Amino acid sequence: MGPLDIAIAGCGPGGLAAALLLKRDGHRVTVFERFETPRPIGSGLMLQPTGLAVLDRLGLADLALQKGARIDRLVGQAGMAGPVVLDVRYAALGRPAAFGIGIHRASLFALLHDAVTAAGVPIATGRTVASSVLDGVKRHLHFADGGVAGPFDLVVDALGTRTPLAPPTGRSLAYGAIWASLDWPDGASFDGAALEQRYRRASTMVGVLPIGTPSNASRPQVAFFWSLRADRLAAWRTAGLDAWKGEVLLLWPACAPLLDQIVDPDQLTFAHYAHRTLCNPAEPALIHIGDAWHSASPQLGQGANMALLDAWSLTKGLREGASVGAGLERAVAGRRRHVHLYQRLTALFTPVYQSDSRLLPFVRDRLVGPMSKLWPATWIQAAMVSGLIGNPLHPLGLDAPDLTLLP
Ligand SMILES: Cc1cc2nc3c(=O)[nH]c(=O)nc-3n(C[C@H](O)[C@H](O)[C@H](O)COP(=O)(O)OP(=O)(O)OC[C@H]3O[C@@H](n4cnc5c(N)ncnc54)[C@H](O)[C@@H]3O)c2cc1C
Repeated sequence: MGPLDIAIAGCGPGGLAAALLLKRDGHRVTVFERFETPRPIGSGLMLQPTGLAVLDRLGLADLALQKGARIDRLVGQAGMAGPVVLDVRYAALGRPAAFGIGIHRASLFALLHDAVTAAGVPIATGRTVASSVLDGVKRHLHFADGGVAGPFDLVVDALGTRTPLAPPTGRSLAYGAIWASLDWPDGASFDGAALEQRYRRASTMVGVLPIGTPSNASRPQVAFFWSLRADRLAAWRTAGLDAWKGEVLLLWPACAPLLDQIVDPDQLTFAHYAHRTLCNPAEPALIHIGDAWHSASPQLGQGANMALLDAWSLTKGLREGASVGAGLERAVAGRRRHVHLYQRLTALFTPVYQSDSRLLPFVRDRLVGPMSKLWPATWIQAAMVSGLIGNPLHPLGLDAPDLTLLP
């Protein structure tokens, strides 16, 4: 295939990575985004060895490491002084260079956005995509203001979980979380290389993730989150910050210097979680990638990483396919097994940490927690969190990078 005219809908990690990769393969790419000024929403996230493999090929892994915080361990404790029931160490993979990166969304966005802009990809902002219409073998994009763009040989739907380009599917989860980015407190007792969580049963969870120093900040930050049922959000607001802070401190007193930074409920953003997976991510001249194809609760921290893998697989598929349709088939084939596996794993594990169940956290704290400290559970957990179960990198021609070799 020669160079294609490609529209990428959505300026998240999936859309930006796809734009960069496809442009580098010689395609004519335009990105469409609803915001006037492209920006990410939310606090921090974890990059795993899978997503880092793609960023490494894009030449951006070193920047991610500079801007983010190296994470070697995920640790979860039941109650204020209860047992450690989750202890995942990347080193259990047997590769000393394996780790994750906690990063502010703004930092991940900026490094991808800058690279896309530097590559000369136009980003059309203030364009809210409403639908796409097939016209022969090509597609037009239709916008909420009545405008139309195209025709394109391919539309890449990277519009996230509420995409208007795919039929609605899946289910919203009862639990979401409130999130904030806060300054790393002086003299804090948190582990700077760990995602730390405290649980009371599965209904209460507080977490702290180091996310490095974003460009607009003068000191390192953490993503702070508190699990909350969506239908209790209004009650949480009514009860007021002091009541909530008291609850957090009962579970994890070390959070006091973080809570001191929160003076207005609007500093916290509520994130709804949903589990959805499209059966057919590829249609004529259209492919859904990232959250537009599959979204899940962030319990295993895979979403952005899977979006990066989807973008890589799409580019590889188009390079190897004899037609757009054949390229899309290859792209989906390269990802489908891993996507379905992680969607199932996330659905399985989410209620253990976020649900009203009493039985699941009981089993977690008494049985699974202690057993998970033994081999091979240590390896399985590390591989699962890394996104490496199901061997997703090999079919895509990728390797988990050794970031310790970066200059
Ligand atoms: C609280 C929380 C924590 C998370 N933690 C992690 C983690 O630790 N690790 C991890 O890998 N993932 C995590 N995730 C998931 C991760 O954020 C997503 O999987 C990832 O952002 C998906 O990327 P995407 O590019 O597919 O879509 P998105 O990031 O959703 O980007 C979609 C883009 O499309 C734009 N858009 C949407 N609709 C329209 C429209 N109609 N017209 C034009 N533009 C539109 C949006 O403005 C946005 O720019 C977390 C998610 C949440 C909510």
